[in-house]
Amino acid sequence: MNVLDHESRPGGPGHGECKGTVLKRKSGFLVVLSGPSGVGKNTVVNEVLRRVPGLRYSVSVTTRSPRPGEVDGTNYYFVSDEKFRMMCEAGEFLEWARVYGHYYGTPRRYIEEAVTTGWDVILDIDIQGAMQIRRSWPSAVFIFLLPPSLSELERRMIERGVGDPGTKRLRLASAREELAAIKDYQYAVVNDRKEDAVEAIRCIIESERHKVERCECAEFIGRLRQSGD
Ligand code: 5GP
Repeated sequence: MNVLDHESRPGGPGHGECKGTVLKRKSGFLVVLSGPSGVGKNTVVNEVLRRVPGLRYSVSVTTRSPRPGEVDGTNYYFVSDEKFRMMCEAGEFLEWARVYGHYYGTPRRYIEEAVTTGWDVILDIDIQGAMQIRRSWPSAVFIFLLPPSLSELERRMIERGVGDPGTKRLRLASAREELAAIKDYQYAVVNDRKEDAVEAIRCIIESERHKVERCECAEFIGRLRQSGD
């Protein structure tokens, strides 16, 4: 279903949990979520996708190897360095970056098709990638997910099995530096209790869907005036 064709129905793609008449939107938008390694972006994104109708996930391309349980095409598209380089040269990425020694990129075509058919798309990407999107896609919504404390971040890293003490130290040091990037984001959400973080992000998306600049207001107002009610 193309949400651009539907303006006056409850729920459905692009309209979240809103009931009643919803203004037709010009297109979908991007929701960029970043935060330090171990903050819980993955878990939060999965739950947000369950809770927010009309929202899709952008599956990234990566050169890192799959972790146990990860599925090609669902968690990531796993490719070789060579293939990634070719995709890069062919302009297939909306953004790409090297993160912890591996390459990661957002497929451009998927995003463009999704937003033009009215879907909002959530991206779980690092700060370098988010800054590229800020330049090329300024209408995107930027959310930074924070840990409640650095000791809790360390505890979550250990729980997730983040390798040896050296890797953990490196990621914690990067996390401290990454926090400064929050100034380039529009929303800050603390992932203390997962449910609260998910609800905050759901509310952000819902509010963004109502922004005048994203809606086809003129047509609706024209009809209001004509109807004379
Ligand atoms: P992981 O390997 O743990 O899944 O992800 C490592 C980091 O890469 C995370 O911070 C994640 O947000 C980031 N990442 C995942 N996909 C992309 C992408 O397509 N582009 C960029 N720039 N970063 C990504």
